[in-house]
Amino acid sequence: MLRNDELDRWDRECFFHPSTHLAQHARGDSPNRILRTASGSHIEDRDGKRLLDAFAGLYCVNVGYGRQEIAEAIAEQARELAYYHAYVGHGTEVSIKLARMVIDRAPAGMSKVYFGLGGSDANETNIKLVWYYNNVLGRPEKKKIISRWRGYHGSGLVTGSLTGLGLFHQKFDLPFERIIHTDAPYWYRRPDPAMDEAAYVAHLAGELEALIEREGADTIAAFIGEPVLGTGGLVPPPAGYWEAIQAVLERHDILLIADEVVTGFGRLGTMFGSDHYGIRPDLITIAKGLTSAYAPLSGSIVGEKMWKVLEQGTDEFGVIGHGWTYSAHPIGAAAGVANLELIDKLDLISNVREIGPYLTRGLSEALAEHPHVGEVRGVGLLSAVELVEDRETRAGFDPSRKIGPAVAGRMASLGVVARAMPQGDIIGYAPPFCLTREEADTVISVTAEAIRAELG
Ligand code: PMP
Repeated sequence: MLRNDELDRWDRECFFHPSTHLAQHARGDSPNRILRTASGSHIEDRDGKRLLDAFAGLYCVNVGYGRQEIAEAIAEQARELAYYHAYVGHGTEVSIKLARMVIDRAPAGMSKVYFGLGGSDANETNIKLVWYYNNVLGRPEKKKIISRWRGYHGSGLVTGSLTGLGLFHQKFDLPFERIIHTDAPYWYRRPDPAMDEAAYVAHLAGELEALIEREGADTIAAFIGEPVLGTGGLVPPPAGYWEAIQAVLERHDILLIADEVVTGFGRLGTMFGSDHYGIRPDLITIAKGLTSAYAPLSGSIVGEKMWKVLEQGTDEFGVIGHGWTYSAHPIGAAAGVANLELIDKLDLISNVREIGPYLTRGLSEALAEHPHVGEVRGVGLLSAVELVEDRETRAGFDPSRKIGPAVAGRMASLGVVARAMPQGDIIGYAPPFCLTREEADTVISVTAEAIRAELG
C-alpha cells in the first residue's frame, strides 16, 4: 500500500483530475479526499475516516457500495470472456441479455439499445443518430438541437455544447453553432413570483415555440432535456411542463431526447423519469444507474419510429459508420445484468418511494425557518437545499463567497458527503437507494448543523 506522503506527491505530480482547479491541486492547497473502501451508503478514506455518501459518488452508485453479487458477476465475466466486440453483428451472451432487460424496462415504444461507455458518449451517439435520421429522410437542413440553460448532458464537443452551464463552454470555443438553448423550468426563480404553475408552464412553452419560429422549424431536429434538471440545480419541473413541451415539439415535428443518465433505473421511484412525468421520448440516454457505476456502461435507447428510419438508411447507404471498440463491453454488461437483478430482488425502487420523500420532508422541516434557506425541493431520492442571502428578494450570495462549497465542506467534516452543485449555492442529495431512515436522519441533522455553523 502506498504511504500517505507518496499518494499526495504522486497525485500532485502525475494525475490530471477532471473538473478540478488544476493549479490549486498541483500546489496542494485545495482539499483532496482519497478513498480506500466502501460499503452500503458509506465510504472510507485512506485514514479510515467513514463518511455517509449522500450523493452516491456522482449520483451513480444506486444500489450502494460493496455489492458482492455485482463484483462476482464482473470477476466471472472477466475470467470467462473479458472482451469481444459488437461490430458487424457480433455479440456476447451477457450483452444480449442486458439489451433484453433494458428494453423490457423501458417506456412503451422503445425498440433497441446501443451500448456505450458513459453518458457523454451516449449523448454524442444520440445527436449523430438524429442527424442521420434527418439525412435519411431527405431533410439535410433540419439539424439544430435545442437544449436548456442549466441542463447537463456531458462534456464532449457536442455534449459540452448541449450542457447549458457557462463553465463547460468558456475557453473551449463552445457551444457549436447547431446547438441552441432555451430556459429550463426553475420554479423558485420564475420570472414573476406572482405566476402560478400553469402560467409559468405556458410561459416556458411559449418561449420554446418562439425560439422554434425564430429559427424555423425546418432547421430544428431535436430537443434534449433531463426529466428533472440535475447538475444544473436538482430542480423538479412544475406540473404539466413535459406535456406542454411535448405538444410544442409534436406540432413542429421535432424529436425528443430524454436524458435519463441520472433518472434512469429508479432514482425518481419509477423505472424511468419518463414514466414519472409521462414523457414519450424518441431516444433515451442511460448510464450511471445502468450498472450503479460498478463498471462503465451507457446506452442510447432508440424508439421504434427512429429505428425504422435507421434501418432504411442502412438499406440505402450501407453499414452505419458509428461504433466504439468498447460498445457493449462484456464486463460492463455483466455489471449491468447483476445490478438490474439486484434492484428487482431487493425491491430497491420501493425504498426510493419511501425514503426519498422522508428525506426531503425532513430537510424541509429542519430548515424551513432558517433565514438563509430559500427553498427545499425534491422528487424521488433527489433533494436540494438552495441557500440565499435574502429570502425576501431570493437574491443569492456573492459567488466569490463560495457558501455552497463551505457548507458541503463543513458537512464532510461532520461525516456526511453532499454535493455543492456547480451553479448557485445549492446543496444536493442523491444517496444510494438502500439509505435507511436512520441514515436519512443523520443527513438531515448534519445539514442543519453545517448551515448553522456557516451562516448562523
Ligand atoms: N447526462 C446527464 C443528465 C448527466 O448527469 C451526466 C453526468 N453527470 C451526463 C449526461 C454525462 O455522463 P458522463 O459523465 O458519464 O459522461
